[in-house]
Amino acid sequence: MPRTILLGDEAVATAAIHSGVTGGYSYPGTPSTEILETFQKLGRRVPFHKVHAHWCANEKTAYEAAMGHSYAGHRSMVSFKHVGLNVAMDPYMSSAITGCNGGMVIAVADDPGMHSSQSEQDSRFLSHFALLPCLEPWDQQAAYDWTRAAFDLSEEFKLPVMVRLVTRLAHSRASVELQPPLETVPAVPPVGDWRGWTLLPANAKPNYERLLSKQERLSQRLEEGPYFQLDETGNRSYGIIATGLGVNYVKEAFDRYNVRHPLLCVGAYPVPDALLRKMFHMCDCILLVEEGMPLLERILHAAGLTTRELLRGRLTGDLPRSGELTPEIVATALGVKVPSEDVLAARTSDQPLPVVSRPPQLCAGCSHIDVFTTIDKITGGNNNARVFGDIGCYTLAALPPYDTMHTCVDMGASIPMAIGASQAGLSPAIAVIGDSTFTHSGMTGLADAINQHANVVVIISDNSTTAMTGGQPDIATGEDLVRIVKGLGIDEDHVHFIDANKAHHAEMEDALRREVEYEGPSVLVFRRPCIHNPRRDKAEAAELESAQKEVQQQRLQAANKQAAGELAAEAEAVPEGRPKIRDSFGPDFKRDLIMAGVGGQGILVIAHTVGITATRLGMYVKQAETHGMSQRGGAVISHVRYGVNPVHSDLVERGQGDILLAVEPMEALRWTGYLGPHGHLVASVKPVVNVPNYPELEEVLAHIQSFAAHTLLDADRLASQAGWAKSANMVLLGAVAPLLGFDDRDINLTLEEVWRPKGEKVITVNQRAYQYGRDAGLFYRALIEGGVAPADALVLASETEPSPDALHFVPAWAETLARDAGRSIVNAIHESNRPASVDPSQLAAIME
Ligand code: SF4
Repeated sequence: MPRTILLGDEAVATAAIHSGVTGGYSYPGTPSTEILETFQKLGRRVPFHKVHAHWCANEKTAYEAAMGHSYAGHRSMVSFKHVGLNVAMDPYMSSAITGCNGGMVIAVADDPGMHSSQSEQDSRFLSHFALLPCLEPWDQQAAYDWTRAAFDLSEEFKLPVMVRLVTRLAHSRASVELQPPLETVPAVPPVGDWRGWTLLPANAKPNYERLLSKQERLSQRLEEGPYFQLDETGNRSYGIIATGLGVNYVKEAFDRYNVRHPLLCVGAYPVPDALLRKMFHMCDCILLVEEGMPLLERILHAAGLTTRELLRGRLTGDLPRSGELTPEIVATALGVKVPSEDVLAARTSDQPLPVVSRPPQLCAGCSHIDVFTTIDKITGGNNNARVFGDIGCYTLAALPPYDTMHTCVDMGASIPMAIGASQAGLSPAIAVIGDSTFTHSGMTGLADAINQHANVVVIISDNSTTAMTGGQPDIATGEDLVRIVKGLGIDEDHVHFIDANKAHHAEMEDALRREVEYEGPSVLVFRRPCIHNPRRDKAEAAELESAQKEVQQQRLQAANKQAAGELAAEAEAVPEGRPKIRDSFGPDFKRDLIMAGVGGQGILVIAHTVGITATRLGMYVKQAETHGMSQRGGAVISHVRYGVNPVHSDLVERGQGDILLAVEPMEALRWTGYLGPHGHLVASVKPVVNVPNYPELEEVLAHIQSFAAHTLLDADRLASQAGWAKSANMVLLGAVAPLLGFDDRDINLTLEEVWRPKGEKVITVNQRAYQYGRDAGLFYRALIEGGVAPADALVLASETEPSPDALHFVPAWAETLARDAGRSIVNAIHESNRPASVDPSQLAAIME
C-alpha cells in the first residue's frame, strides 16, 4: 500500500477521513491543531460526500457537535489538547452514559513537559475516570491504524473511544503505510428507545449499569487487538512495562545500549490483568515507563498486584516525576551508564558559551503592542493596577520589554479574575482578552461583570483570528464583537471600538483613562488584524481552489473509468510498500540530525525535505518538530533521524548527533550539547538580533570555528544571489547535503515535490539556492582541510560569487582565487587585520 510521511496529528486525521468520518469538530490548541487542519484539507478533497470540518467556539461545543453527528448515525471526531478536554468535561462524562450511535473518536493531544501549555496532565486518567476505552499509539503507524480501528470499536461498543497522543507523537513525522479508504460508511439512523440519550436520573442509572457491564468484554476485545505486545526475551532481573510513546524510548535504549529485558508494550486501556500478572510472575522487578503521569503505576499499586519494592517508576523516583522521558532516562533507570555526559564533559571549555535566552516575542508591527503600550501609559507607576491576562499571542506581554500582564490561568479567566480582584480592592482591574478567547469563554465572565456591576475594564485585543495556533478563523471580530458586548448588556456609553494603531494612540489612551475612572464594567475593543492575516487568507484561497480542482478531476476520472468499465483501485497507481534501500548505503547507515534556528527561518522545511528524501529512499525516519508559541521569534529545534534500520525514538541523544545544522549562529551554540564527538556543525554567519543582550558575533563565530568539523557560510547573501532572500534555509540545506548520504538528484526531486504548489519559478530559485549552498559548503571545507585557518576560510568564502549559469562553482572559485590570489586573498585577509594562515600561491594545490 502507499506510504507517506505524516505527523502523528496528520496520521489521526488521515485515518478519520479514510474511515468515512463526515464530521470533525475542534478548537485549536498546540499540539492538537494539525488534526482538524489536516482533516479539513483532506475533507475538501473527498469527491462524493460532504465532509464537515469546523473550528467551534470552544471544546465543549465541539464535543457536543460531534455527539450530535454521531447521534444522527454518522461517524464523527472531536479533537483538542488536554486542557481542551477539561473544557469539554461535562459532555465528555455524560457521553460515557449516553454512549454513541455512529462511531465517535475523541483525539486528545497531551503535552508532557508543558511545551505549549499551562499544565501537565494525562488524559488517560480521564478515560479511566469515565470508563471509556482509550487507545495510546506508540508511533505514527499505530496512530493511523488504531484511529481507524477506534471507529469500529466505538460502533461495536456504542461508546466514544479516546485516542491519546502526546506532543512528541503529535508533532513528530514518520513514514506511514496507508490502507484503502472506506468510500462510504452508511449512516446508522437513530432507532428504538430514545431514553438512553435523555439523561434524567431514571434513564441515566440503567445506562451507567450498562457501561459498567461492558468493561470486561471491552478489556477482552482490546486484548485480541494489536494494542499489547509481549516480548519475553532478555534478562529477567528486570521486566519493563511501557505505555504509548514510552515503548519507543525503551526499544531505543535496548538498541543503543545493548541491553534486553522482557517488555510488555501497552497501547490501550483498560489493560487486561492477565498480561500484567504474567510480567510480575516472570520478572524479579518491574520498571513502568509511562510518557505522562503514573496512571498504570497507581492502578497496579491500588490493585495490590505488587509492592513498592517490586514496581519501579515515576512514583518511586526511579524515573522523573514530571516531564518527558528519553531513551537515556530509561537506560539510566536500568542501571546503564549513558555516554552523553562523558562527551559533554570532554567538550566543556573554561569559557562559557556566548548564548543568551531567546524567548518568543510579539511580531514587529503586531497590534497587541499598541494595546499594551496604551495600558502601560495609563497604568504605569500605579502599584495598585493589575492586568488580568488570558491565552493568546498577547500573553507574551507578560515578558520583557512589556511586563504588562500579571496573570494567565486558563481560557477566559481574565474577566472573572478581574471581577474578584476588584471586589477585593484592587483598582484599576483590567482584563485583556483576545477575540477568539472572548467567544471561547469570555462572554460568560462578561455577563457576570454586568450582572454584578463589577468595577472592571475589559479590553478585547481583536486581531480577527486565532493567531497563536496559526491563524484559524474565529467566530466574531470587529463590529460583531461590539454587538455581542452590547447585547450582553454593557452600557453603550462604556463600549469603545478603536483601531489599534499609532494614529489612534491618543484616542485609545483617552478611552482607557476614562473607563479606568468609571465605577462599573466597560469594554474597549481595540482592533487591528494580525499582520499575517493577508498571507494566510491568500494561502487559504489557493488551497480552496486547489481542492476544488482536485475534486473535479477525481469526479471526471471516476466517470471516465466507469464509462470504460475499469474501476481499478486508485492505489495501483501509487508505489506500494517500502522501496528497496540501495546497497551503497551499507547495513548500518544512519544519520542523527539537529536543526536549529529562530522561529520563521524555515528549519521545518529543511527537516521535512530531508525526511521526505529519506522516506522515498526506503529508510526509516523520525522527525520531531517544535510548534506553537516558540515560533514567535523564539529558538526552535527539530530532530531528524533516519537510517536503514528501524528508528524508535524521535529524539537525538545528547552528545551523539552526527550533524548540527543552524540557520542562525548563536542557535548553533545553544544546541552543541547534542553533537557527537565526530559530529559536524554547519551554520550560517548571519545573526538574528532580536534580544538586547545578543553576544558579540565574532565571539559566537570563534566558538563555532573551534569545532574540528564545521562549515560556515553566509546563507543570506547566497540566497539573495540565487534570487530569493527567503531561501537561505535552502542554501543551508545545500551546505549540509554532502554530509547527508543522499545524491543531489534525490534532494532535487524532493525540492520539486515540496515546492510544486508554489510553481516552477519557486522550484527553480530554491534549487539554485540549494546548489549555491552545496558548493559554498564544499569550498569552505576544502579550504579548512587544506590547512587554511577557519577565520581566513570565512574571508575567502565571502569573496565567492556564484554564476546562475554554472552547475558547479568550486573549481571556478579555486581557479579565480589561484589566478587573483595576490590581490583577492591578501587584500581580504589584510582587511580582516590578521596574519594570513595560507600562502596564496598554495591555493590552487589546496583546491585540487
Ligand atoms: S502572529 Fe499576529 S497576533 Fe500573534 S504576535 Fe504575530 S502579529 Fe501579533
